[in-house]
Amino acid sequence: MHVKIPRVPLVATLAAVVAAAALLAVPIPLRAPASAGFIRIPEAARGPAAPTAPTTPNAPTPPASAAPEGTPAATAPGATPPGTRPPVVDHGPRTGNKVALTFDADMTDAMRNQLRSGAVRSYANLKIIDLLERERVPATFFLTGKWVEQYPDVTRRLAGNPRFELANHTYGHLAFTPDCYGLPRIAEREMTADVARTFDVVAAYGGRQTRYFRFPGLCHDRKALAALAPLGVTVVDGDVVSGDPFAKSWRPVVRASLDGVRPGSVIILHVTEANAPMTDEALPHILAGLAERGLEPAPLSEVLGLG
Ligand SMILES: [Zn+2]
Repeated sequence: MHVKIPRVPLVATLAAVVAAAALLAVPIPLRAPASAGFIRIPEAARGPAAPTAPTTPNAPTPPASAAPEGTPAATAPGATPPGTRPPVVDHGPRTGNKVALTFDADMTDAMRNQLRSGAVRSYANLKIIDLLERERVPATFFLTGKWVEQYPDVTRRLAGNPRFELANHTYGHLAFTPDCYGLPRIAEREMTADVARTFDVVAAYGGRQTRYFRFPGLCHDRKALAALAPLGVTVVDGDVVSGDPFAKSWRPVVRASLDGVRPGSVIILHVTEANAPMTDEALPHILAGLAERGLEPAPLSEVLGLG
């Protein structure tokens, strides 16, 4: 597993890019983190407070018909010993030919208001799910609790697909650092409960539950990571940022998704339709491009070597 320390400079670099968009508290058009100059530290150089590798590398994958309470947290993919600061991963081993398609399902209060007022029709891109199902493509969905509550039927559909894994993207997509694209900030004392609550919301749907977690805007610092320590999670950023939020055309999304994709890559996409309106058009081209490169989508747990 590839672990790194928190990436504060990336956050600062990206902040200016999307500050305006964040006024609506919408998905963040991130730049590729691989180019942001973060520091990786070798396994041996990590101190005692450093992340601990998961202890259940061969945990069985539950069937889609798993009990509603979901996979026990301690044995789910991504589970780490509670009490240790979670590892942060960008990608899996650069061997083999597997890559992970990950779809974030953001939902803020501002977005819910857009739905209620009728200004936005949908933040759930069913065309993406249709395509993945039709083509039998594995994928991993990072769900906010509020998105799940908005779209229980879609969540049931995701949980019922044995190729889909479910992961955690906070309850209401609040910022976990002081400066995260202008997203409204969560209080530090509420961080742990927010993420725990989201696991509970998602777990009720069963299926392939995980202990993978992604911060809104990928914004995290030492305090945010420390807040997750009791929960036994793995933080997943990603190494290929599609830039699909607010895309005006599918072409740049395809280019960003395929440029720099390698074995073990974790590709960040969004399933939020109105805020990422080109993703369903880009996806067939992304899948074709991956196939041309001999790369094959797989569940995140498989790509990270934990499944
Ligand atoms: Zn997000």
